Amino acid sequence: MSKIYTSILDTIGNTPVVRLARLSPPDMELYAKLEAFNPLGSVKDRLALGVIEAAERDGRLKPGQTVIEATSGNTGIGLAMVCARKGYPLVIVMAESFSVERRKLMRFLGARVVLTPAAEKGTGMVEKACELAAKHGWFWTRQFENQANADIHSRTTAREILAAFGGTGPDYFVTGAGTGGTLKGIARVLRAESAATRIVVSEPENTPMLASGLRQRCKADGTPAESHPLFRPHPMQGWAPDFIPQLTADALDTGLIDAIQPVGGAESLRLARELARQEGIFCGITGGATLAAALEVAKTAQKGSRILFMVPDTGERYLSTPLFDAIEQEMDAVEREISNSTPSCRFSAPASQPAAAAAAASEPPPDGARHFVRQAINDPEQPVVMFALEWCEFCWAVRRFLRDLGLPFRSVDLDSVAMQADGIGGDIRKVLHTLTGQRTIPQIFIGGAHIGGAVDLLDLHDRGELMTFLGKAGIQPAGDLALTARSYLPRWLAARSVA
Ligand code: PMP
Repeated sequence: MSKIYTSILDTIGNTPVVRLARLSPPDMELYAKLEAFNPLGSVKDRLALGVIEAAERDGRLKPGQTVIEATSGNTGIGLAMVCARKGYPLVIVMAESFSVERRKLMRFLGARVVLTPAAEKGTGMVEKACELAAKHGWFWTRQFENQANADIHSRTTAREILAAFGGTGPDYFVTGAGTGGTLKGIARVLRAESAATRIVVSEPENTPMLASGLRQRCKADGTPAESHPLFRPHPMQGWAPDFIPQLTADALDTGLIDAIQPVGGAESLRLARELARQEGIFCGITGGATLAAALEVAKTAQKGSRILFMVPDTGERYLSTPLFDAIEQEMDAVEREISNSTPSCRFSAPASQPAAAAAAASEPPPDGARHFVRQAINDPEQPVVMFALEWCEFCWAVRRFLRDLGLPFRSVDLDSVAMQADGIGGDIRKVLHTLTGQRTIPQIFIGGAHIGGAVDLLDLHDRGELMTFLGKAGIQPAGDLALTARSYLPRWLAARSVA
């Protein structure tokens, strides 16, 4: 990595293989291939580059043409990076049930995300992508059937594995299957060049689609015509869509799979957490699931076996999923005890004001500031005014609330560079304190009347009393009056009860 790259895309691949220190059973060597080291944090960065560059080469993708794909997230994030760098507009079709972090990441990278109802499952997403591609003439990357998906793994991931293990592969290679690209691409190279490597594919135990030997029906183009009858919802986002994709079927049909290992959802979540806590390896749910399968393999493998398992992505995109369910936002009893073991900055003790600040606050504010405040709160052109701090969370909450309510307002940001220049921001705070008895910011006024701080304003709305003030000031909001104002508070605050 100690060189200068001309494109972020050149940093895809060459991910590390790390030996487990504490989670390996005795007499076994467990190795993790950490795909989170890819620039957008997952194995799918490889696929994204592979399918786009293959289509560029054979002319199916034209300069500036819109790209479309159906994905549970990681493919979309990888494609969003590749399309951003190469200048293709991107539309992603994704079921609403996949984690919100993924949607936001894709939109952050400039992609459009079209959601499909959870009830329509993976087959619904694929159908929608197909329909949109046909209607608008977009290039559909078809990750589930596109051989370029498997090819990039044969060219890169498989080579990296062979090199890491000194030319011949490990004794076992353990992976899951989403599209089957990782599986097919790596397994066929290992078969050809490391015949002794046993290939194990893992699937959710409640969804034994591969183990059953049953296939769902497919259309002529290889896409699924129906859901697989054995599909059940499972927590391994990225594995086992509700059908057996073409690439996975190829791996089954060409004898690339030596064993199919079922793993449980709870065990997968537990092992993802253990990887973090015991090995410092931070991964998503399928990483824990693949480790679960590797540990099952270890139970019957010969002493000293080297077992390599794929860790497909980072844990950061699972904050809103069951993976983080047991992770608290607030301090628990142990943390509170640590906090209380020294006197300063405890929640139980009242905040003290440093002496110098107290002395400065006691000086009367100059007339200019008093005049500014009087004018601002009585301005008929802008009857809703908040005295705010630019980046304070409460002020953001109020701004978002007022915007959604469709209420134009003036935000006087007391800590903006302009207001700090001659100290007027600080002087205005003093005026506000004298005027309202409140030291906190924001302070909100409507039609000259003092409403209070952020919580006061939001509660006034939720009690149905805000309209009275607006009515007196002759203003009618243009937005959604039915919204719940309290929900705009920062989450850390909403969790504690605020008086
Ligand atoms: N894990 C995660 C988190 C994924 O997003 C994916 C890809 N959907 C996989 C595993 C499986 O990879 P593949 O599509 O190559 O089978």
